[in-house]
Amino acid sequence: MSEISLNPYPAVAARGPFVLLVEDEQSIAEPFTHALQRAGFRTALARTAGEAISLTSEHAPDVILLDLALPDGDGRDVCRRIRHDSSVPIIMITASGTVTDRVVGLELGADDYVVKPFSTAEVIARIRAVLRRGQRPSADGEHLRVQDVRIDPGGRRAWRGEDEIELTRKEFDLLLRLAREAGRVVPREELMSDVWDMNWFGSTKTLDVHIGWLRRKLGDDSGDPTYIRTVRGVGFCFATEHDQFQ
Ligand code: CA
Repeated sequence: MSEISLNPYPAVAARGPFVLLVEDEQSIAEPFTHALQRAGFRTALARTAGEAISLTSEHAPDVILLDLALPDGDGRDVCRRIRHDSSVPIIMITASGTVTDRVVGLELGADDYVVKPFSTAEVIARIRAVLRRGQRPSADGEHLRVQDVRIDPGGRRAWRGEDEIELTRKEFDLLLRLAREAGRVVPREELMSDVWDMNWFGSTKTLDVHIGWLRRKLGDDSGDPTYIRTVRGVGFCFATEHDQFQ
């Protein structure tokens, strides 16, 4: 196993969001790490796909900048692997900027995409944007409330009234995804690509199965649901209190 240097350059910021840079080219990694640190970020550097995966699971970064061309593999595979276990924001870095690359990257669960050569200022602005958009609350962060359901996105816990709901990882992701957009119909394809990092061009039966489990745990009646409504042929909607009285 190669030696991993968590902080290869002098740290400027002891606190601040933790950025994992996955980049094998020293001529990019070194100046960019300095720029990130000057901007108040903590940094770690992974030079291979293997390091990217191990550093992500060991250190839980707040955001990952992921180069697509790595010496031991493809950044897209790294993205897929990370997405399997984590919702950490991922910004892909690539030399090519074709629409296909962008679409593939986003389907795999990347949050954003920059094309080399990029300006440091641009990437830092993108990092700040995904951190804001992700609204990944810390342990004391805000809970999300819809009807009598309360969700702690940071702690990955959910309650109905006073009772905690025991959810699997995918059930939690699905609940959070729907509740964040309560009142809006979330298309099946969006749920499949956001909650499952699999190719959703095939069957979406797994989605229906999980919706069924989630409804049961919420005490919802699929015939006359209070929480999760089916919009046939389109997707699902987490009903707000307002929706109920319409
Ligand atoms: Ca590279």
